[in-house]
Amino acid sequence: MQGSIYTAFSDMIIEQMGMEQWNELIEKTDPPSQGIYTSGEQYLDSELINMVQALSVKTGIDAETLVEKFGRYLFKKLYDTSPVDISKIDNLKSFLLAIDGLIHVEVQRLHPKAYLPTFEYETVDENTLIMYYSSKRKLCHASVGLIYGAAEQFNEIITIEHPECIHQGATRCKLVINFKGHNE
Ligand SMILES: [Zn+2]
Repeated sequence: MQGSIYTAFSDMIIEQMGMEQWNELIEKTDPPSQGIYTSGEQYLDSELINMVQALSVKTGIDAETLVEKFGRYLFKKLYDTSPVDISKIDNLKSFLLAIDGLIHVEVQRLHPKAYLPTFEYETVDENTLIMYYSSKRKLCHASVGLIYGAAEQFNEIITIEHPECIHQGATRCKLVINFKGHNE
């Protein structure tokens, strides 16, 4: 996984739980990188997965919830460092539709070794968009958190349903996003 994901993860733990907790996580999971990350490098997926599991044991919060929280946190970091000028996108739906064909294409061009999830889209009606998530990493809960993070960025209210999931045997995850208007 891309190092920028790891630097965001360590930032989140240090900001929200403190340096001591981060050091404890590194000690417990003993990652090959020893927790030293550079944003452009690639690291083993297992490092993140092991840390999430250790955090889950420590906090009693299930791993899916932790991954979703991380997705929300990660959004701001990714948005601020987008390689594509997305400043003109002024609503959540246009942003979500730009992820697969525009933003990820550029990320891939800049980081050819990066493995990115793919999204397919289906528009149900004006207020409902379906995003199908596929990835060998099965981090659909991070995507859910990222989409909620994006909604916050655009000051929009949404709900997300997740009726089909790779963790329950589906070949891809179905995320049904309902747009409920703006936050005042
Ligand atoms: Zn899923």
